[in-house]
Amino acid sequence: MITKQKGTYDVYGDLAKKRMYVNDVLNALCEKFNYGYIETPVFEASELFHRGVGDTSDIVTKETYDFKDRGERSITLRPEGTAGVVRWFVENKLYGNMTDPVKVYYNQKMYRYERPQSGRNREFTQWGFEMFGSDSVEADAEVISLAYNAYKLLGLDDVKIKLNSLGDTESRNNYREVLINYFRPRINELCEDCQNRLEKNPLRILDCKVDADSEIIKNAPKTIDYLNEESKKRFERLQELLDLMDIPFEVDTNLVRGLDYYNHTVFEVVLGDSYALGGGGRYNGLVETLGGPSVPGVGFAMGYDRTILAMEENEVHIPINDSIDLYILAVSDTEKETAAYLTQDLRLNGFIVETDLMNKGLKGQFKSVDRFNAKYLIVLNDEDLAKNEVVLKDNKTKEEERLSLTDIVDYLDTHM
Ligand code: AMP
Repeated sequence: MITKQKGTYDVYGDLAKKRMYVNDVLNALCEKFNYGYIETPVFEASELFHRGVGDTSDIVTKETYDFKDRGERSITLRPEGTAGVVRWFVENKLYGNMTDPVKVYYNQKMYRYERPQSGRNREFTQWGFEMFGSDSVEADAEVISLAYNAYKLLGLDDVKIKLNSLGDTESRNNYREVLINYFRPRINELCEDCQNRLEKNPLRILDCKVDADSEIIKNAPKTIDYLNEESKKRFERLQELLDLMDIPFEVDTNLVRGLDYYNHTVFEVVLGDSYALGGGGRYNGLVETLGGPSVPGVGFAMGYDRTILAMEENEVHIPINDSIDLYILAVSDTEKETAAYLTQDLRLNGFIVETDLMNKGLKGQFKSVDRFNAKYLIVLNDEDLAKNEVVLKDNKTKEEERLSLTDIVDYLDTHM
């Protein structure tokens, strides 16, 4: 037997319904915020992610699915959404004459070679969005509010934003030097990955999962203390805006996020003490890194797996339709013909209708009525059909109504 790959799963049944519900809520929300839907290819040139996500990131060093295609090109399966969207933005020269920001959202499968565990898979879906062209702090607030509203609308009322600022390039570089000097004398006490990160990307040491509880990391210098005046003001302004918008947040000075390209605002959405449900931030240098002009960007991504797990753990009611509107029972050839055109007509009119496709007898079909949890049923019979009539039965009250064939749609419309 061929089984599914480690860290992948099939989406079907109740999980499929839950995901479709989450999809619908998130997509409708993005449309309200006036973000346009985008899909980018599952595979791209490896260089895009190496440059875009960063050669020193865990994603690129340990987690990408890289392969050579038959034309000997280096290809990588999309591990995150931002780099592909930036590639699209640059390739289509959307940076020319920007009078308003370009805002897009996506809903795509991602691939990372991680150790699978609850809420962490090798193939997973992320919902995310990006905004290009605005460097304003109000844009950061809008992105955070869109992320926050998503969880609120999904019924996760207790989420909180963890917020930090890495400052502008000057502040970030300054802080980088301070960190290197701080960690260097004791770097041997940290894990091998952190030792490699010291020169290449010391900020990453702060969110190391292995050394998270180490005193060295806990006592490390804080980004906030190294922000220049302008960056500090900006960070304070963002907090004022979030207060005004009634969005609960907490400053977390160790938050640097796993990706290389952030500056100024970084944030994560958390629920209680559990892992992040989603994260995002500002990436003003990324468009340029990927071959475009200097255009600011800011975005966010959430994983479906963790969001749905959190909804289940918090017993959020997820509306799942587990009934059909009508079951049409038919046995003889004329009954089956009537069932065929009635189902077609009723389905076109928006009703969920089933009929027998297994050549079952009436007894078996009645069992299907219960299994499908049908609200109404019609038992066709040749005698009624000769008069162009049917008897429609309410499966709950057991009340019956004799109707002409042409009146069924109207009757259901007024009674459902
Ligand atoms: P990142 O792109 O790493 O910032 O992750 C953003 C969000 O995507 C996380 O907060 C998770 O909700 C989700 N996510 C990241 N990696 C995985 C994974 N391996 N499996 C499932 N969800 C993931």
